[in-house]
Formats: sequence, C-alpha cells, structure tokens
Amino acid sequence: MRVVIVGGVAAGMSAATRLRRLDERAEIVVVERGEHVSFANCGLPYHLGGVIEHRDALLLQTPESLAARFRIDVRVRTEAVAIDREARALAVVDLATGERSWLPYDRLVLATGADAMPPLPGGGTPVHQLRTIADMDAVLAVLEAAPEGAPVLVVGAGFIGLEAVENLVARGQRVTLVSRGDRPLSRLDLALSEAVSDALERHGVELLLGTVVDEVVAGGARLSDGRTLDAALVLDARGVRPAARLAADAGLALGPRGGIAVDASHATSDPAILAVGDAVEQRDAVDGAPALVAMAGLANRGGREAADAIAGLPVAAAPALGTAIVQVFDRTVAMTGWSPEHAAAQGRPHRVVRTHPAHHAGYYPGAEQMSIVLVVDEADDRILGAQIVGGAGVDRRIDVLAVAMRAGLTASSLVDLELAYAPQFGSAKDPVNLLGMVAQNRASGVAAAIAWHDVEAAVAAGAVVVDVRTEAEHDRGAIPGSTSIPVDALRERLDELRGREVIVHCQVGQRAHVAQRILAQHGVAARNLDGGWLTWRAGDRARRRARALEHA
Ligand code: FAD
Repeated sequence: MRVVIVGGVAAGMSAATRLRRLDERAEIVVVERGEHVSFANCGLPYHLGGVIEHRDALLLQTPESLAARFRIDVRVRTEAVAIDREARALAVVDLATGERSWLPYDRLVLATGADAMPPLPGGGTPVHQLRTIADMDAVLAVLEAAPEGAPVLVVGAGFIGLEAVENLVARGQRVTLVSRGDRPLSRLDLALSEAVSDALERHGVELLLGTVVDEVVAGGARLSDGRTLDAALVLDARGVRPAARLAADAGLALGPRGGIAVDASHATSDPAILAVGDAVEQRDAVDGAPALVAMAGLANRGGREAADAIAGLPVAAAPALGTAIVQVFDRTVAMTGWSPEHAAAQGRPHRVVRTHPAHHAGYYPGAEQMSIVLVVDEADDRILGAQIVGGAGVDRRIDVLAVAMRAGLTASSLVDLELAYAPQFGSAKDPVNLLGMVAQNRASGVAAAIAWHDVEAAVAAGAVVVDVRTEAEHDRGAIPGSTSIPVDALRERLDELRGREVIVHCQVGQRAHVAQRILAQHGVAARNLDGGWLTWRAGDRARRRARALEHA
C-alpha cells in the first residue's frame, strides 16, 4: 500500500509516523513544499524574543532522521499541485528544478494546513508573516538590519499576533498593534479582554483597535484612522484560512466555512482521500456545527486518527472544543468552548458565572488572582464554555474545565470534583469547585444574578445598586449612583431597601452573596452583580474602548 501525505508538519507528520508504527510494510511518502518538516511552528515567536535561544531547537526532525527511524520518504521543496482522483495520482513539482511528475497513491492524506490572508496592499516596507522557519528568519534579518529599537507594526491581535508582540517587545522593538476588532482575541469575553488590553499598554505597546492597514508605504503604513505609522517591519498576523485549494480543484467537497469537509474518520468526499489539521472543518463540540479550529493539538490528533483509519482501526474523531491558551506579558489567557457572546449569538439560553478567585490559598504567599467566566446551558446545566485570564494556575483550571466539558459534566457538579490541594497549589475550595457552587446556587434559584452590562438598564428602570464592600473600598471607586451599605451593617438598614428592586455587589461577588442571602431571608429579593465590582469595572472600561471606536 502506498500512502502519500501532503504537508509535513503537525498533522501530516503525525499521520506518517503513526502509520509506520502500525504498518511496517506500507510505503509512506510525505511531500512538503517548504524546506523543513516537523518544525515547531508554535515556538517561532519565542525564538524572535530570544526565549528559545537556538534556532535548531525548533527543528524537531529532518528528512534523514525520519528516513532512519521510520523509513518515511520525505520530499521537501516539493509542491503538490493537482490530484487525478480517477488515476489515484498526485501531481507534484520539484521546486528546485521545476520538474513535474505524478505520484500514484492508494490512500492520500491532505494535511496542507492553513493559508495566509491575501497580501496587504501597497509596499515599500518589508511585510512578513510568522508561520514558517523561513518567515522567522526573514523577520530576524529585517530586525537585525534595522536600527536598535526600530518600530514594528503588528497587524492582527489573535494568538500569533499577541505572541509576536510580546517577543518583539522583549527584543526591544517599539511595537504598535492594530486590529480590526474591538478587543484583542476576538473569541475573548469583552470584560475579560480588558486585562489583555491593559497588559499590552502597561508594556508599552500602542494598541489600535478597530483599525486596519489601508496601505503599506515606504517606511511604514497608512492606517484606516488616517495616521501614517513609522515601521521598519510590518508583521502580518491577520489570521488564516484553510488551505483547501488542492482539494477543491480536485472536486472534493468543502464545508460551509471553506475547509475540506470530512467525516468522523477523516475521509473526504472521496474515500481514498483523507484530510486533517487546519485544512479541514471540525465539528463544534457544543452544537456539532462546522467549525474552523486551527490548533496544534487537533492537528496532531487528526493525523494520528487518519493513520488509524488507513490501518483499519476504528476511528470516531471527537468534536472540537477549541481549547487554547496564550501568554500576553504577565497575563495568561485561556479558553475552551463557547464564550458568552457566542452563546447569545447562537440564541442558546444560557447562564454566565463570573468569579475572581486566587490561584491558591490566599494566606499562602504568592496567591495570584484570576478572572473566570463560565457559560452554562440554562436548560440542562451543562458547561458550554469557559474563559480565564490571570497569572499562575490558569492553565490547570482551563484544562480541568475542558475535561469536564468533554465528559459532559454539569456546571453544578463541578462542586464535587476532588482536586489536588495543599496551600501552595490550590485551595480546599478550588476555583473550579467555587464555580460549581455559584452555578449550583444559580440553578437552584438560591442566588439570582445580574450581568455587568445589564446594570445600567436596571438602574434606569428604578433599581438601587447597593455596594456591600467597606466604605473605604466604596470611596476608592464605585458604580455611579450606588449606595454604600457594608454587609456587616445590612441587617440594621433593611428598611431602606424594602419594596425596592435591589442589586447588591461587592468586589468579586462573595460578600454580596452573603448580603443577598441576608436580604432574602428578611423578605428583600436582590440580585447579585455577577463578578462584582472587578467585572463591572473591566466591562465598563472595555465597553468605553469599543464605544470610542464607534465614535471615531
Ligand atoms: P501546518 O502545520 O501548517 O502544516 C501544513 C504544511 O503543509 C505546511 O508546512 C505547508 O508548507 C504544507 N503544504 C501546504 N500545501 C502544500 C502543497 N500543495 N504541497 C506541499 N506541501 C504543502 N497551535 C496551538 O495549539 N498552540 C500554539 O501555541 C500555537 N502557536 C502557533 C504559533 C505560530 C507562529 C503558528 C504559525 C501556529 C501556531 N499554532 C498553535 C497553530 C498550529 O501550529 C497549527 O494548528 C498546526 O501546525 C496545524 O497543523 P497542520 O499540519 O494542519 O498544518
């Protein structure tokens, strides 16, 4: 059996090596148009910043090492240009000689990854992406030739754009980040995104949201806000699209999002051809809708499963949660599943739980606060998604929540998870358990809540906002028009609140929950501001940024 694989990085090489482990006799050919196979594209930004000191550390395998261990015939600088499905042959061009030839196959695996966006208009200043070793080398060459600290314009505030920004700042470049959207990371909850915008600005990055590059010009770029920015380099990180052209030209079915359509065993509309990785459409884990999720874990998993399918093992690919994590200076941002805004856009009735726990016991030195957003299906209490911004401990919590989602746990049952605890690692009530407690209180009707973005309308309709923090905390910053009644004084001032629609809040929601329970048992129904003052303030700031864009 001859298996030909197009694309020699994450998905393609996972398929090739797994297949060899399953089948010693198959002939396995990998064609890759780039110079390198099996390189660590996720590490590219960190070599720019000097965190990964040695370029060679990014080159995980070579054609020679793959031939030696796995007997894989790896052909670099070889581009697949057409598929003759009837003849079961792949047309390839040797990029060194221009010579075209046909490679017959019994099974073909398309692991072509993603394509960049069409080039930015204009020219006169070097424009590079950061997707391959060659891109990284080109970026470094420009920066090394430019004066020290030369300005760089990064276009796009997705994962790669943000990682590039952090590392360019670490190199000492002056960085401007422009993004079409109203926040860094379009999937991120608006209130959570404020911590990311703030981290960028605290580290000297000029952040221009709601802005696009109209034209690259000599010495910089002209922006949609009319400004011309100086830049020695424009780093184009506007995102990617599935590299599906080879498949489409061969008449293979594409999905509605433009990726190659595959079934649960990665077969395309032609059973002899499989497709995996960034090039394909995944199934969304929440509603099964077609989704584009360009992540390394899914690509590796898909490659392995494609090999299993070819070797005759049963395969049923799990849907994609889109679990992701990124570092933005001192903030860690992580997400899995749906955001509150996505749930709303899908018309899915949902509850949102917002907390701000410490990553380990508060009494133990070094506790760092994180902000968590949990999205819960109102109908069956299942977890629809979670997002976290913080410092230490974010990675662990998002992974627990991703596992909980995959296992189909309800939000309330997060209370029951028995998670490892000693004071330097967590809390007896872990942040994940706390989410479960709040979710349980919500689901059972013990604690009604109001979202930060609904407070303004509720107040306009006559609600009173009661700040149950201390007076000193209230004086340091408060929701306009709110009344200060510290929780410990609440029982004495109940009469002020009887007959009113009441919203209680504290810093994060915990003292307000106590207040809410006191009020409820004295006949005053109150809603707790979800996530408290910290969420309200972050949301208000992020909304002001977004409104400023609308008025610009
Ligand atoms: P790729 O790894 O892109 O490989 C596709 C290969 O196919 C390419 O080498 C391409 O040259 C080749 N190819 C395409 N068409 C042809 C053709 N016609 N003929 C021959 N060869 C062809 N994901 C994470 O989960 N976490 C991270 O931290 C993370 N960081 C990233 C940082 C950067 C800078 C980049 C670029 C990506 C990052 N990703 C990350 C995304 C992750 O790397 C991708 O999701 C993953 O590599 C996709 O694997 P793939 O095999 O589908 O595509």
